Amino acid sequence: MSQMIAPGSVIGIVGGGQLGRMLALAAAAMGYKTHIFTPERDSPASHVATLTTIGAYQDTNALRDFAQRVDVVTFEFENIPASTLNMLAGIVPVRPKPDVLFITCHRLREKDFITASGIATAPYAHVSSPETLRAALEKIGTPAVLKTCELGYDGKGQAMINTPENAEEAWQKLGYSECVLEKFIPFSAEASIIVARDISGEMQCFPMVQNIHTNHVLHKTIAPSPDAGQYQEQAVRIGKTLAEKLDVIGLLAVEMFVTPDGLLVNELAPRPHNSGHWTIEGCATSQFEQHIRAICGWKLATPSVLHPSEMLNLLGDEWLSWQHYATTPNAHIHLYGKSESRPGRKMGHITILK
Ligand code: AMP
Repeated sequence: MSQMIAPGSVIGIVGGGQLGRMLALAAAAMGYKTHIFTPERDSPASHVATLTTIGAYQDTNALRDFAQRVDVVTFEFENIPASTLNMLAGIVPVRPKPDVLFITCHRLREKDFITASGIATAPYAHVSSPETLRAALEKIGTPAVLKTCELGYDGKGQAMINTPENAEEAWQKLGYSECVLEKFIPFSAEASIIVARDISGEMQCFPMVQNIHTNHVLHKTIAPSPDAGQYQEQAVRIGKTLAEKLDVIGLLAVEMFVTPDGLLVNELAPRPHNSGHWTIEGCATSQFEQHIRAICGWKLATPSVLHPSEMLNLLGDEWLSWQHYATTPNAHIHLYGKSESRPGRKMGHITILK
C-alpha cells in the first residue's frame, strides 16, 4: 500500500474540539475531506468537517464503520482509550501510531520515556500506595507537585504539596489514584517547541515560544520566545530526539520549563498544540498544514516565521471582546463556534502580528 494519501481522500479525526476544527480547515484547503469521530453533539470540528460520526469511544460498531469510510486516521486529543486507536489501526493507517499515544497519555510512562531518551525532566517519583508516597516525599522533598498519571490537563489532576504533612490531603484530593510526585521547579519561564516529522523521518521545527499560564491554563504565547536566542538549539535537539524515538508521524509538542541550568521537559502532546496557533498567520506553514502534510505522506514545508506574534486565548466570556479585536487591523480572530461559554473554557484565540 502506498504511504501517500491523495487529495480527495478522507482524513478521519478522532476528537471534535478546536484542534480538530483547525485541522479540518487546513485539510480542506489541501483538497481533503474530513470525517470527525466524537461523542459530542454540535462539536467545533463538526461545523467545518465533511462528515461527523457521533459515537462513544467504546462503540466498536461505530468505530469500525468510521474506519471503513476513511483513508487515514489521526487524533486531536489524548484521552482516547488505547483500545479505540488499536482497533482503528487494525483497519486503516493511524498516524501517529497508537503506541505514541500510549506513552504520552500517561505521566509516568511519559517521564520514564523522556528520561530513558537522555533528556532532563523535573525529578519525579511514582506514587501508588501510602508507602510509595512516603518514599517519594523523601526522595523529592517539598515543595512538590502531585499529578495523576492519567486524565490530567490544564492543571486538572494535580495538587501542590508544600510540607510533608499536607501530602496525604493532596493525594486524597486526587482520589488516591496512581500519581507522580514532581519537584516544584521555580522556573524563569515556560516554553514549548513543536516538531513535525514526516513518513521518511525528516523533521522541521517551529521556533521555541514562551507560554504564560493563568490558573494553569495557557493565557498567552509569545512567538518566538524571548529566550529563543539562548535555548532554541537545545529545544530543537530535545524535540527532534523525542519525535524520532517515538517514531512520530505528524506533530509532537514539547512543553518545557526554562531554568538557569537549561530546559526541563514537562509534558508531550503528539498533536497540534495551543501554543502553535500563532503559526496560522505567523509562519509560512501552519502547524495544522504541517500535520496534514505529514500524515498524508507529503514532504514537510518550510515553517519560516513571517511575523513574530502574540497569541491570546479567549477563555470563557473573554470571547465577547471579539468586537474590540475586530477593529484592530493586526489582530486575527479565531472563534471555535462553541454555543456554551463556561469560566476557563477555550472559546477562541486572537493572534496579534507584531
Ligand atoms: P501540567 O498539567 O503538567 O502541564 O501543569 C500545568 C502547569 O502547572 C504548568 O504549565 C506549570 O505552570 C505548573 N507546573 C506543573 N508542574 C510543575 C512543577 N514541577 N514545578 C512548577 N510548576 C509546575
